[in-house]
Amino acid sequence: MALHENVINQVMDSSPVALFVLNMQHEIVYWNHACEVITGHSATDMTGTNEAWKAFYSQPRPVMADLIVDGKTEDIPTYYLGKIKRSPIQEDTWEAENFFDHFPGGGRWLAFSAKPLRDSNGQLIGAIETLRDITTEKQAFLDMEASQRMLQEVIDGSPVPMFVLDRKHRISHWNRACEAITGVMSEKVVGTGKQWKAFYEEKRPVLADLVMQGNTYEIPEYYQGGCQRSDVIKDAWESTAYFPHFPSGPKWLYFTAAPLRDKDEQCIGAVETLQDVTAQKLYEQELAHQANHDSLTGLANRSLLDTLLKKEVVQAQRSETILAVLFIDLDNFKQINDTLGHSIGDRVIRLIGQRIAGSVRDVDTVARIGGDEYVVLLHEPESQLFITRAVHRILGAVQEKFSINNQPLHIGCSIGVAVYPKDGETASALMMYADVAMYKAKEKHKGGFCYFQSEMTEQARLWLNLKQDLHQAELRNEFELYYQPQYSLQDQRIIGAEALIRWNHPTQGMLHPGTFVPIAEETGLILPIGAWVVETAVSEACRWRNEIGTDIRLSVNISARQFRYDELVKMLLQIVERSHFHPFFLELELTESLVMENPARAVKILAVLKEKGFSLAMDDFGTGYSSLAYLRRFPFDMIKIDKSFVDDVGRNREAEAIITAMLNLGQALGLRMVAEGVETEEQLDFLRSRGCHEIQGFFYSKPLKAEDFFTLLKDGGTRV
Ligand code: C2E
Ligand code: MG
Ligand code: MG
Repeated sequence: MALHENVINQVMDSSPVALFVLNMQHEIVYWNHACEVITGHSATDMTGTNEAWKAFYSQPRPVMADLIVDGKTEDIPTYYLGKIKRSPIQEDTWEAENFFDHFPGGGRWLAFSAKPLRDSNGQLIGAIETLRDITTEKQAFLDMEASQRMLQEVIDGSPVPMFVLDRKHRISHWNRACEAITGVMSEKVVGTGKQWKAFYEEKRPVLADLVMQGNTYEIPEYYQGGCQRSDVIKDAWESTAYFPHFPSGPKWLYFTAAPLRDKDEQCIGAVETLQDVTAQKLYEQELAHQANHDSLTGLANRSLLDTLLKKEVVQAQRSETILAVLFIDLDNFKQINDTLGHSIGDRVIRLIGQRIAGSVRDVDTVARIGGDEYVVLLHEPESQLFITRAVHRILGAVQEKFSINNQPLHIGCSIGVAVYPKDGETASALMMYADVAMYKAKEKHKGGFCYFQSEMTEQARLWLNLKQDLHQAELRNEFELYYQPQYSLQDQRIIGAEALIRWNHPTQGMLHPGTFVPIAEETGLILPIGAWVVETAVSEACRWRNEIGTDIRLSVNISARQFRYDELVKMLLQIVERSHFHPFFLELELTESLVMENPARAVKILAVLKEKGFSLAMDDFGTGYSSLAYLRRFPFDMIKIDKSFVDDVGRNREAEAIITAMLNLGQALGLRMVAEGVETEEQLDFLRSRGCHEIQGFFYSKPLKAEDFFTLLKDGGTRV
């Protein structure tokens, strides 16, 4: 027996499982070594006592083995409330877990179980209780619980809307920001695999679902190319799309999804983040709209028109249909702008834009491409008749009377039409021919329209050729200045001359400025050409002065583009200074309409020119609608009455009355008055009788070559 007990003792002590045994008197009969280590109480202290509780609690109370010895197993759950369970393996055995804070090393978690001991008759003879130190496992479990809690908090508290899918594509997290952005509450979706419902009307994978699958080639299909791989995070994708069905309202989202992997690189889920980019997207759309639309009318602008016309041409080619380009220009719009002001001008432009758009179908394009120019593309018109009807509708709509600020107004327009493929097969040809046809319509009569005709191509080609030739004209010395004398009506003597440019074109012969000055304006060549004119005129005048001993006043014409040129004053000063020519004898002619384009700016520049000593003349007076009030503000020395009024002398009382009024006005303002284009004696007599100072016209002399003019001048200038 002693040996037996000794063996049992050894067995117990060598067991890594801590255990102790109570007899029926609650006395500890075994307290093994492992039990000593876990509890910090030695077997010597414990064995033989009936106070097993001392090892575990600070107050006396039964341990589990005590309850079994007393047969009070029904009390066990009360003592270990919530921490107890019956062993699934052994009958009569109870298991529990608890934390014992006074154990060595700052307390321990123990898992313990107790079981009755019986003799061979089944009689209860004691109880055995085993203890297992589960502190490490328990700590790991608690740590994991805490880190999961923390993860939940991080995700939930994050201001970035996001959701997480688990391995089975179920939503494990759907944070508060995600609720706010989508308007979908987490209770509705967490635990389900129905993430698609939040975003789409039909079942389909979301980006997070797709990144979890290996076959990422599907992604661009689902997002129609509107997605890309992230260049920051491995295997992540990003996309931007419009979601019209959120309970929180429609939105543009930028979203990214990345797979989540365990330490063996196995995919265990995915996280998707969302960002509301609606404002940015709307701004971008607004910018794109602005880049493609005219801000005044909201119609397509030239750049969008170019794009659309090119597309239409390709489409018409493919479907073998026709296409019409209508070039529309308002008649006398400048008059409205100049007399009623720009803000009313703008309202007219807007109103006419609406009327044109209202006269065509939705499939047609209406663009505004310049001041008072509109272009309409008729999409696949059925026939020429269809086009003509559309043109008539537009003409009718534009011409309808309207009133602005209670002022009844009325404006007409001229329309040029070019048709694909008959007239041209490219976008640029169609635009050019419609433009050419519009000019023809204007020439014929305002308020009408004109189909492009092949003869016009000739003119268009001529225009293009001239444009090319003009670049070389100055180098090749093809320009020449003619001089038209200006006579004093008092003594019939030459008192000045206007320099008029001519172009000796190698094949076209002598060209007048009306043919090529507009091209020079458009291309900017007018700047070097204009400088050449002043340079030549001044050096000629110097030569004459040296020979006859007196200065002669020379007029040169300044065009719109030259007048807008910042360096104009500098260029003029350089030339007169170099030749020691007094600027008083250089008269700058500016047309009335040019000055009226921007009167405020004109006043400034004219003041500078005046201050530098140049003489100033207003050309073509009577055609630019300037008001009397304006005339006072400009420092002109001379007014040139336009030829169109002089033409009507003897034929039209009204024109005569106007000339008389002009001359009176000039006198009142102390200005010299010149009449242009005087061809007959009758005109001359009329002008003299009304007190006109000077005359320029074929009646006295046509513009002459420099040498011929000089001969005339030397002869005393009296009429030959
Ligand atoms: P403008 O300044 O009004 O010049 C007068 C025009 O009327 C000249 O035409 C002249 O030849 C023409 N003319 C003069 N008297 C008569 C007449 O009795 N009967 C008729 N039927 N015509 C007459 P031109 O030389 O063809 O010049 C036309 C326009 O071209 C000029 O109108 C002027 O605005 C512009 N221009 C001429 N030379 C230059 C230049 O060097 N630079 C610029 N920028 N423009 C110029
Ligand atoms: Mg002139
Ligand atoms: Mg003139």
